[in-house]
Order: sequence, then structure tokens, then C-alpha cells
Amino acid sequence: MGSHRQLLIAGPCAAESDEQLHRTAAELAALQIPVDYFRAGVWKPRTHPDDFLGMGDVAFAPLKEIREKYLFPICVEVLNPRHVEKCVENHIDAVWLGARTTVNPFTVQEIANALQGTSLTVMVKNPIAPDLKLWMGAIDRVQRAGIKNIIAIHRGFAHDTDIKYRNNPLWKIPIALKMEYPHIPVICDASHTAGATQYIEEVVQSSCSYGLEGWMIETHCNPQSALCDAKQQVTPKELAVILEKIANQPPLSDVSKQLEMLRERVSSIDQQVAKLLLERMKAVDEIANLKIENNMPVVQHDQWQKVQQRYLEISENDPHFQSFIKLFLELLHQQSIERQRGDGY
Ligand code: PEP
Ligand code: MN
Repeated sequence: MGSHRQLLIAGPCAAESDEQLHRTAAELAALQIPVDYFRAGVWKPRTHPDDFLGMGDVAFAPLKEIREKYLFPICVEVLNPRHVEKCVENHIDAVWLGARTTVNPFTVQEIANALQGTSLTVMVKNPIAPDLKLWMGAIDRVQRAGIKNIIAIHRGFAHDTDIKYRNNPLWKIPIALKMEYPHIPVICDASHTAGATQYIEEVVQSSCSYGLEGWMIETHCNPQSALCDAKQQVTPKELAVILEKIANQPPLSDVSKQLEMLRERVSSIDQQVAKLLLERMKAVDEIANLKIENNMPVVQHDQWQKVQQRYLEISENDPHFQSFIKLFLELLHQQSIERQRGDGY
């Protein structure tokens, strides 16, 4: 699992009551779970206005007590500049931008402006849609506000497929993010990715094999009674079991982690190559139609020479690549002629 310990964020989805916060924190502490940040949603961005919207500002009193009693740094989700001010006022250690915030560059900018001059650690979750650029844009806005400690949180992407997870992990996206920002830790929100406690452990496992550097895991003293995300919250005891299982895994060497990342990258390049080839074929079909309509010959040698030239220019210093390209071009040429003549269709 890498050379240093994974980052761990634990705590309930929402701050629900003084008692719920205290009990959850006390159990985490009693089990000696190495909590880097105790999380609690003070203001919850719920789908419907009748849903539980979080305790609001009154949650800061118990959170402050937990910070003092257990020495857990505290992190809270912020959805607007006022939330940032409240967090600063109440000595919160870290804030995070949720998936519904990261989608909106205007809100992210307003929050970034409010963050300016603070010493908060800022975590940025991926946007709901699989849009790497939007995630990067949010991180850049926070970075430009002068924030030094930034953590990216991967929580998967909304989907309507039949995969068993609540959100689709699409691991190639956090991996691509890591390649763009090698110095920013990328951690996995296993709870919102999995959506149900029975899948959390396997999501945590996957996140390790993809080289992610820690986890956010929603933890509640009594998940059945939770006022939001009840299905995906574990008890502190269950969290301890998951962490123990992970710790007892034979550690993945840095080399195999790197291999995983490169394989993801190759598979994403392959997808692009396949898409581009298909696009090329379609463009060739259009050329064929034009030629047929205008009674022109299918094979135009001068044109083909230009195509070859373009490829060879790119490969000029690599003789192995050049001989491969020659073979590849022969195949490509043959395919194009067949399509243009309509052979084999
Ligand atoms: C949360 O962490 O409780 C939350 C609202 O998550 P997300 O923004 O990932 O949906
Ligand atoms: Mn939640």
C-alpha cells in the first residue's frame, strides 16, 4: 500500500445530534482507529427539501468538543462562502467541496474567493459527471486562492447502468487526475462510490490497487437510524474490521501499482485509437460517395503518398515504429479501398 500510511477520513454522513456525534467519535477513539479527519456534514445538499438538511450551525459546538477531547481534526462540507466563514470562525481544520458543488464553476469560484487567506485544508470531490477538466478546474480555482493543502476525493460518477455500485468508479479518471497533479493526494470516498456497506471493502481494495492514497468512509454509531445515507454507513467496529483486512493484505509493491496505472493509461489510449479509426473509416466512406457521384477513380496514388508521408514524418527517428507503420498502412489502405469500392459489403 505504498511507502506511507493511507489517509483516513471517518465520521457520519450528517451531523444529526450532539449524542450521535459524540458516540461515533468516542467509539472511533476507543478502537484506536487512526482518524486523520473526523467528517460530518453540517449542511446537507439533499435532493428534496423535505429530506433531513443537517443540524446546521449548532453542530459546531459538539464538533469543537470532539476536536478537543479526541484530537481529531474536523472536516465539513461547504456549499457557499458563508459556510467557509462559519468554518473559519469555528476553527474547523478542513473543508470539502462536494460533487454537486464541483459541477458549478461559478459556485466554486465564490467559495475559492472566501477561502483566500485562510489556512484551511481543502478537499475537492469529483463532479457528478465524469468530466476530468471540470474537476481540474475546481482544483485550480482553489489552488489560485492560495490554498496550500489540497486533497482530491474520488467518489465515482452518476450512471444509469446496471453496475451494483451507487456511483461508477471509472478509475481511469482519478488516475488521470493523479498524473496531472502528482503532488496532490487522491483518496477514495468508498461510501459514496459503493452506496451500500457490503461493497465498501471491495471498493477500498480496488482503490489500493489503483494507487489511491486513502479513504473517506462514512461511519455512524447506529447506521440503521441514520437520517441520510443509512445503507452505506458502517459502525466504527465495522470500519476497524475493514481496515484490519486491508492491512493484512500482502502489500502491493510500488512497481505493481505503477503497472496498474500504466495499464489503465494504455487501455484509455486503445479506446481513443479505436474511436479515431472508426471515425476515419466513416470519413473515407464520405470520400467514396463523393468520388462515385463524380465518376472519379477510387485509388488516387498521389493522395495515398501524402497519407504515408504524414505517418512517416511522425515516426522518423524510430526504425521499429517505421516498419510497423508501413505494415499498418498497408492494412489501412486495403481497408479504405475495399470500403470505397464496396467490396465485401
Ligand atoms: C457527502 O460526502 O456526504 C456528500 C454529500 O457526498 P457527495 O458530494 O460525494 O455526493
Ligand atoms: Mn453521505
